[in-house]
Formats: sequence, structure tokens, C-alpha cells
Amino acid sequence: MQNELYDVIIIGGGPAGSSAAIYTSRARLKTLVIDKDPHAGALGMAHAIANYPGIPETLGGMELLELMKRQAVSFGARYLRDKVTALDPNGPEKSVFTVSASMYRAKTLILATGSMGKSSDLPGEKKLVGLGVSYCATCDAAFYRERIVAVYGKSREAVEEALILCRFAANVILLCPAPKLSLPEEEMAMLRSAANLEIRYNSRILSVNGQKELESVTLEGSDGQLPVDGLFIYLTGSSPVLDFIGGSLELSQCGCLKVDREFTTSAPGVFAAGDMLCKEIKQAVIVAGEGCQAALYADKYLRGGLKPKSDYKATANEGRH
Ligand SMILES: Cc1cc2nc3c(=O)[nH]c(=O)nc-3n(C[C@H](O)[C@H](O)[C@H](O)COP(=O)(O)OP(=O)(O)OC[C@H]3O[C@@H](n4cnc5c(N)ncnc54)[C@H](O)[C@@H]3O)c2cc1C
Repeated sequence: MQNELYDVIIIGGGPAGSSAAIYTSRARLKTLVIDKDPHAGALGMAHAIANYPGIPETLGGMELLELMKRQAVSFGARYLRDKVTALDPNGPEKSVFTVSASMYRAKTLILATGSMGKSSDLPGEKKLVGLGVSYCATCDAAFYRERIVAVYGKSREAVEEALILCRFAANVILLCPAPKLSLPEEEMAMLRSAANLEIRYNSRILSVNGQKELESVTLEGSDGQLPVDGLFIYLTGSSPVLDFIGGSLELSQCGCLKVDREFTTSAPGVFAAGDMLCKEIKQAVIVAGEGCQAALYADKYLRGGLKPKSDYKATANEGRH
């Protein structure tokens, strides 16, 4: 694998990277996907996905990833388990260096390493992720119909997610660790009008409790134990996974990778897609669409700037390079 020159190396095998791989390999581009560990990505961590179009069953995130990978492999993509540590994105042949001291070369790169939540590390939190602890109401609110849930945080995101949960849960308790929420008056009015929402200020969680699933949280001071079925945590936000980029590509002032309308980074032939692009809305269907676009623009680049070719006809030897 190491001596070959690939048309495309995709870094990250989540929904963005695997969707890109489906398109590049089906376009008969020699494609290598390097992924350090699917369980470490956001979709790999998701307990249950019920909103991915075309999949009416509720699947575990890993099951959905496996389906995407199978599809890409069926068209000829190769997957490699390794961690990318550095890039040389310049020139017509780009180099990718991995932790196993290997070097891979390609004419184009698609970066899709996602965005990691900064762990809030409450005692008991980690072992209950997916068993009552969540970080995404858009993803999981529907699993909490008529249940009691707490939202922990003081950011605008925490408030918006609490309002989403109010549409499903019987009661939503917003545990705000500060003396007040700094929001415009119209948003505070929306909060006050939600009949099933209670806000507790200066409320800090000491531990997250439960054996097989979440049972309660322990609050600081006299509030003690609060029994809840769900806990949505929005304390720290998330940041794009860019550690392997070093100074090789341009970042914006807020530390996000710069891309243009065609998902091209500051280096020609290097594209990026998915949650690593500092997205406001993080959903598998959105990043899959971006992976598709990055793949089509990589194909366009390889064909000397011709219009993206989106309708590939199946052929008898599809998947063979
Ligand atoms: C708990 C949870 C529940 C969710 N539920 C839903 C839901 O119900 N519906 C929905 O649509 N969305 C859901 N999401 C959001 C969705 O999972 C993400 O938006 C999506 O997975 C982002 O895709 P991505 O490909 O950009 O990144 P990821 O899925 O994070 O994949 C990135 C991949 O890159 C790999 N990688 C990272 N660094 C390197 C490196 N240096 N070298 C090699 N590989 C690397 C990672 O191991 C990972 O496999 C959920 C997210 C979470 C965390």
C-alpha cells in the first residue's frame, strides 16, 4: 500500500469520510481511507441513530458506519487503521505520515477527522454515555418522550437544546451553573413560556449516578439527589480535530480550517468535509452530503477542473482499479 500513488487519500472514516470514499471509489479513483479508530469518532460513539434518511430502523452509530464502509469497499476503496500525525499538502503529490511511521502519497487529500467534544469529566459521566447521558438533543430528544431530563450548561446551545427537549420530555430541568443566563430578552421570554421547563440557577452537578443506566445526578448543596432519565451536557463545546495539520494549512482566527465553496483548503487538491469544519449543526446526513461534495470536487481537480461529474454509470467492472 505504501509505495502506491493514490488518487485520493481520505483521512477519517466517519460519515463524511466514508461518503466521500463511496463517491471517489465509484468514480474509479484509487482511494485509501485512513482511520485511527471508528469508535473514537462522533458517529461511532452514538448509541442510537433514528434519523438517517433511508434507514427506518434505529441503528447503533457503529452499525451505520459499517454499512457505509461496506458500500465504499464494494466500489474498491481500501480502509487502513492508523493515526495520521502529519501532512505535506503541497505540490502535485501530497504526503501523509502516520503513527506507525508509514508514509502514503496521493494526488488529492480529503480531510474528515470530525470534531471532538471536550470532555467535561463529571464523576460517573463517561460510563453512562449512551445510557442516559447525551450531548445532542437534536439526535436523542425523541428517546425521552414523557420522561424527566436535565440539561446542564449556561450557553445559548444549552438553552436551545433544552427547548427542543421540551417538545418531547414531560419535564426539563435546566441546571445552570451560573447565577443567570446571559440571553436577549426575547429568548428569556421563550424560556419562561415553556410550561414544562424549570430553570435552577447556581446549580452544579457533583456526580452522575446509575449502574446500568442513568438514575440520578447529585447536586451541590442542599438540593442533593435529583432523579432523571436523561442528562444532556453542554459545558465545554467541541473543537475540530486538527492536531495533525500543524501549520500546513490556513486556519481562520477562531481556529477553524478555511475552505472555499468547493471545500478546498488553502492547498490546491486538499479538501475537507464534515464536523471538522466547525459546523453549527452536527448531523450525519449533513456531513455525508459534504463528503459527497468534497469527493466530486476532488474528482473535478483530478480531471483538470472539469465540471463535477455526479452521475456515474455502473459498469460491469465497477470497483476495479
Ligand atoms: C453521542 C452522539 C450522538 C449523535 N447522534 C446523532 C444522530 O442521532 N443523528 C445524526 O445525524 N447525528 C448524530 N450525531 C452527530 C454525528 O455523529 C456527527 O455529526 C458526525 O458523526 C460527524 O461526522 P464526521 O465524519 O465529520 O466525523 P466523525 O464521525 O467524528 O468521524 C471522524 C473520524 O476520523 C477519525 N480520525 C480523527 N483523527 C484522526 C487521525 N489523526 N487519523 C486518522 N483518523 C482520524 C476518527 O477516529 C473518526 O473515525 C451524534 C453525535 C454524538 C457525539
